Amino acid sequence: MLLVACKGEENKESIKKSSEQKDSLVSDSSSIDTTILENFNPEDCIDTLEQRLIDYGLVDIQSLDSTILVDVKYSSEDNFLGIDLYGNLNRIYLQPDVAERLVKAQKKLKQIDSTKSLLVYDGVRPRSVQWKMWNTLDTLPPGQRGKFVSNPRNGSLHNFGAAIDLTIADSDGNPVDMGAPYDHIGKIAYPSMEKIYLDSGMLSLEQVNNRKLLRRVMWAGGFWVIQTEWWHFNSCKRDSAWVKYKIVE
Ligand SMILES: [Zn+2]
Repeated sequence: MLLVACKGEENKESIKKSSEQKDSLVSDSSSIDTTILENFNPEDCIDTLEQRLIDYGLVDIQSLDSTILVDVKYSSEDNFLGIDLYGNLNRIYLQPDVAERLVKAQKKLKQIDSTKSLLVYDGVRPRSVQWKMWNTLDTLPPGQRGKFVSNPRNGSLHNFGAAIDLTIADSDGNPVDMGAPYDHIGKIAYPSMEKIYLDSGMLSLEQVNNRKLLRRVMWAGGFWVIQTEWWHFNSCKRDSAWVKYKIVE
């Protein structure tokens, strides 16, 4: 079964045709028109999760600023749970006003250092995915789980498309050294503990300055970091998110 919806009617028709062809494959493999598959461009297609995000009114950040880099960590197994949670999604979606503010932050970064770019790991995260994360950590008591994933019952700002996980990339597109990787759960990732780790030599001045640069440019877009994750920035308070936006289920 093809779980894709295409932008172009032509492609839609091709997919329809190709699935009809697939059905006939069972009875007669020689009837497949291979030109349909040759002309099929996966880039033109939007999977069901992505279509849902679009239907919620969210925007692809790169459609507003193509210089912003993305690496959707939850679309791979390269994340702290080691599970692919987003499937084929390879774009980052946010509320339109939040995305506009991110563009501001990118502009600020380019003003300071034109060789660098924001590199975004996560934006909107549907609450169903948040539940999946929550349930994956079911060996931990609920009180402990909240340290890794915020409780889906309360709604995380990610569920509204109003929080962003990101870093800064160098001129080659590689993330700069922040002294702790994305989603690291140790205290060395805590902005609130930076001074202590700097004084003890466990964080270098360069690592702390990289974090400060990220906070400075995000501040220019009106975002603020949370005290336990150097990569997580909120665009508003949770109360106002409930008023302004619809939670993505
Ligand atoms: Zn986050």
